[in-house]
Amino acid sequence: AIAALAVGLGACSSTRPAEGGGDAAGASGDCNVGIAMPTRSLERWINDGEQLQKKLQDAGCTVDLQYADNKTDQQISQIQNQISGGAKILVIAAIDGSTLGPVLEEAKSQNATVIAYDRLINGSENVDYYATFDNYKVGTLQGQYIEEQLGLKDGKGPFNLEPFAGSPDDNNAKFFFAGAWDVLQPYVEKGQLVVPSGKSPANDDAWASIGIQGWASDKAQAEMDNRLSSFYGDGKKVNVVLSPNDSLAIGIEASLKSAGYTAGAEYPIITGQDADKANVKAILDGTQSMTVWKDTRALGDRVFTMIQEIKDGKEVEVNDTKTYDNGKKVVPSYLLTPEVVVKDDVQSKLIDSGFLKASDVGL
Ligand code: BGC
Repeated sequence: AIAALAVGLGACSSTRPAEGGGDAAGASGDCNVGIAMPTRSLERWINDGEQLQKKLQDAGCTVDLQYADNKTDQQISQIQNQISGGAKILVIAAIDGSTLGPVLEEAKSQNATVIAYDRLINGSENVDYYATFDNYKVGTLQGQYIEEQLGLKDGKGPFNLEPFAGSPDDNNAKFFFAGAWDVLQPYVEKGQLVVPSGKSPANDDAWASIGIQGWASDKAQAEMDNRLSSFYGDGKKVNVVLSPNDSLAIGIEASLKSAGYTAGAEYPIITGQDADKANVKAILDGTQSMTVWKDTRALGDRVFTMIQEIKDGKEVEVNDTKTYDNGKKVVPSYLLTPEVVVKDDVQSKLIDSGFLKASDVGL
């Protein structure tokens, strides 16, 4: 089913659902925004939250920014507080995309507009818009990188692959996995990729069986430790690890290091996502191969634009109205384009653009 997710993007727009007065004119009463982010434990969410908060405050909005330590209950009560504090617009990066239905009912009863940020919110009609990067494409880029580096199209192999997937409660995780697995699974079937641990989902829909709860680095590390000690005892080597993001990659790299793997020709290919500082350092050191970079500043800018459109009563521009079905509706979405960063791109893409400072990554 997920194979069909990568539908084309077409320019289109969707009208704001009729609600509340159209006399916004920038009054800060109408621009009372609640931002709910999942956790401060990952660099990207700190950047996302703080950048958007600043832009909105500079534009005269009242903003309440909250982080929930990856705890769903905490996130729900933060959103409740934002609603009772008069939020007219909620920007939510859900921890568990399936548990926010009831609190969004409360939001709707106050005519608040809800923007799902980066992660889709499932099972609720009260999600007005979704702004994210093309999540399926993130996985495709990871899969294609592996395909190219290993020469799989030329029939090379067999290579030992260990696949990982993201947190089962995060709607993005299945898209990341599906994008990558649609590229890689045919090579597993042909025997060019072998999965010694057997942790090879039979299809896209079985991804959650290898999902790492909470995207936790220590859990990814423990899982990789297990796989290495149980399936690689006979001198067998891992050639490639599909890691959906940087927080998992960091744990996997720590595990490989303690098992004696060092940077060099024999070191496995490892994918990632987010361009976190520690991972960009690992890319420069040769212990991570790539990361899929999502410029969170662009996502913040897009959501800022949506908020302006909403408060001015204008049409909200979206570019995808087919992909993100949350079980109750297809949520009008704006998808941004992710890109691959390898060692040679660190300076030109990450530093020159100001996303990272040279000193952040020891350059
Ligand atoms: C985001 C990723 C992030 C992951 C863990 C996903 O929903 O899209 O950028 O690495 O969550 O926080």
